[in-house]
Amino acid sequence: MNMKAQKPIKNPQQKLDLAKADTLNCQACGNYLFITSTIIKKISAIMSPNGQEGLVPIEVFSCGNCGQVPTEMLKGTGLEPAEPKLDS
Ligand SMILES: [Zn+2]
Repeated sequence: MNMKAQKPIKNPQQKLDLAKADTLNCQACGNYLFITSTIIKKISAIMSPNGQEGLVPIEVFSCGNCGQVPTEMLKGTGLEPAEPKLDS
């Protein structure tokens, strides 16, 4: 075992009663499990503060069921939420 000594897990500031907090549900399908996804913005040399092209990752959550990203997480990305796919 070369792990660091176990630190006691500190309680988050005050007691947070998550049972009373709202749960974010997928707007498209109501699922409440999300996976982390990354949006990558391509920065052109003209836009870039240092004059170099680059890629900027933005971490968001997407629905683990249908893949929809909550609209509030798309703010500032210039993206619109995708229409839910209706396959049938
Ligand atoms: Zn969904």
